[in-house]
Amino acid sequence: MSIRVIARQSCLSQLQVKEAMARYPEIDYHLETLPSYGDQHQHISLLDGEAPADMFTRELDDALISGRADIAIHSAKDLPYPLDEKLEVIALFPPFDQSDSLVSRDHQTLAQLPAGSTVGTSSPLRRRELLTLRPDLRIVGIRGCIEERVRQVRDGEIYAAIVATCALKRLGMEADISEVLPFETHPLQGYLAITALRGRDDLKVLFLRDDVLHRQGHVTLAGFGPGDPELLTVKAVNALRRADIIFYDDLIGKAYLDTLKAEKVYVGKRSGQHHAEQDDINRLLLRAAREGREVVRLKGGDPMVFGHAGEEIEYLQSNLVSVSVIPGITTASAMAAATKVSLTHRGISSSVALVNGHAAQPVVPDTDTLVYYMGGSRLTQIGESLLADGWPASTPVLLVHNASLSDEQMLETTVGELSPLTSLDIPTPVIALVGDVARLRHQTASTIRRTLYTGLVCNDPNYIHTPLIEIEAVNYSIPSHERYDYLLFTSRYAVKHWKGSLRGRIVSIGPSTTHALRNVGAEQVEQTEKDDSYGVIDYFSRQPRGRVLIPRSNLALDIIPDGLRSLGFDVETLIIYNNVYPHHVRRVNLANIQRVVFTSPSTIDNFVKTYGDLPSHIEYVTRGSITAFHLQSRQENEKIQNIQKGPGHTG
Ligand code: SAH
Repeated sequence: MSIRVIARQSCLSQLQVKEAMARYPEIDYHLETLPSYGDQHQHISLLDGEAPADMFTRELDDALISGRADIAIHSAKDLPYPLDEKLEVIALFPPFDQSDSLVSRDHQTLAQLPAGSTVGTSSPLRRRELLTLRPDLRIVGIRGCIEERVRQVRDGEIYAAIVATCALKRLGMEADISEVLPFETHPLQGYLAITALRGRDDLKVLFLRDDVLHRQGHVTLAGFGPGDPELLTVKAVNALRRADIIFYDDLIGKAYLDTLKAEKVYVGKRSGQHHAEQDDINRLLLRAAREGREVVRLKGGDPMVFGHAGEEIEYLQSNLVSVSVIPGITTASAMAAATKVSLTHRGISSSVALVNGHAAQPVVPDTDTLVYYMGGSRLTQIGESLLADGWPASTPVLLVHNASLSDEQMLETTVGELSPLTSLDIPTPVIALVGDVARLRHQTASTIRRTLYTGLVCNDPNYIHTPLIEIEAVNYSIPSHERYDYLLFTSRYAVKHWKGSLRGRIVSIGPSTTHALRNVGAEQVEQTEKDDSYGVIDYFSRQPRGRVLIPRSNLALDIIPDGLRSLGFDVETLIIYNNVYPHHVRRVNLANIQRVVFTSPSTIDNFVKTYGDLPSHIEYVTRGSITAFHLQSRQENEKIQNIQKGPGHTG
């Protein structure tokens, strides 16, 4: 039987095929070559991250998938990650040399290159390494086959180029090497990979002899849980017992680790220099796996929650190491167990977010319960973010230090009191739970009432404040004071937006409007006895007739002007501000709201606009008789609509 091999058209590719197949003189093969997408599009730079991942394999992949070829031979570094799921790498051959070499004019070394010389490379890794040693060089993208790159140096188009040493050797071009560089190179540099359709075990066995893939160790990412070793899963324990080497983090019980025979390597991160260290950890894991060792990467809690697991999985898999993950008990679960506060509870919380509390400005997701990890040094900012997002200051917060361990500590506080807390009050590591579920420690579920307040200014720290109204200034021409005898203010916002003088008799609808008027310097303010429209009309019925000016909003109703006119007053209204639907509305989950406070008819309309209807499980509270009347008529309307829709549409 003859195997059909496919490879790229370059000279180097064909040498790679020869090199790989020379390992198996017993295998009869036929080679077909194709120009790949990358070969045909020489202008695409590999330096700016815009090149498609499969630019060097696409055509070869297609040939395998369509059955035109049995295997493809690639530089392993050129394989896209992830690989097309129909394909797999069936064999991997290590290089005889993994280094990079400098090819330069007059065989100058890197140190000898004149300042500002142009150096060509196609990889961001090499660019970084180059600039570390020689920040004064000018790095340019370079493409084309190896021979082409070397020719550009010979012809003086660029001063120097960085090329893989093994490529130069394969091509018999050792003489062009000016210097072998001390660079850290791509982990797959120089490796050759054979790909084939997934499941072609018949082909795999053919190449088993020199393949290093099947001799590599496997990496298991395992969760240690919150600290108590009894909270380890059986599966994690089995993996730990089998392991040759264990890389572990902070917050992992040393005493338990000592019971395991494997080599133990601490790779915990001190806050501050995460990045470099993550790269180092990645390399350590890869090296151990390549040595054929069974590797366990042990992380606190669950590896997939704030554990950098994604980075390690990607690094290892893209370098062709197999990885599996064993979940662990995440701290949120452990703290719920420790405090006996359920993260979710019917009628109180139907959503939970796991949040990074270490961000400069911790985010506040739109869920009923929030759990902040890594927030020990950011409690102030977390408190500020929550208040700014409209969380009631009275919302309970639970802080737990060392959940599940013998020295576990708990602190109960509130959103409003978070700011002044420090690590003196509770040490790190600490996890913070925010939400009304924490009230369950002291209250029964049926007595917890969550109230939504829809007005502009909320003074009750127990209310969830989500304004359903916004005020916008409008341009208007200021009327002269000779045009009216009475100036009637029916809201403090009218006072705020009034730009005219405060002459004539000034009438206010109620205490907060009066207060606002006093604040802007009005001395003689007459306040109606009752603070609603009927109170105003009643008040005027006892005053001498005259001209009334009412500065007000675009949405104000005509009850007052009509009422005053029927009493014989001469009434003029003037729109001085607009009452609009807010630009940003925070929608809460109404399933867990027991009560809503409406402060004006427009808050009711905007509530329906936001949530679709007026759910019947909610108790509605209104401010003012007009608002109450508006609510009633909307509710009547809704009932009629439900009847019209027919049976089965009652919710
Ligand atoms: N992967 C882990 C989280 C890692 S982030 C998990 O799933 O739990 C580290 C953060 O977890 C710490 O800053 C702290 O907020 C929290 N944490 C971990 N163990 C903890 C414990 N025993 N008690 C309290 N908080 C803990």
